[in-house]
Amino acid sequence: MQSPKDGVKIMPEKEGFMATTTAKALTNSDRCDRCRAQAYVRFEFEHGLELLFCNHHATEHGVKIRKIAISVQDESHRLIAAPDQIV
Ligand SMILES: [Zn+2]
Repeated sequence: MQSPKDGVKIMPEKEGFMATTTAKALTNSDRCDRCRAQAYVRFEFEHGLELLFCNHHATEHGVKIRKIAISVQDESHRLIAAPDQIV
């Protein structure tokens, strides 16, 4: 019989500190931070900050913001794919 008393312990609770890079799909409840329209582009920054923009504002501010964002999730193609969502 072996005793695990000085064995290496696996510590599964070492999470929750680093931001997950798994992008969540943007939904109808995600709203543009400028105009409250449905957001189609998510810009992520350091420290877990993020900005959501509609296609209009993503186009307007995107060039500048892409320079400082660490990741960009662009779902604006769904605007064309889902015409029933256009109000
Ligand atoms: Zn907007």
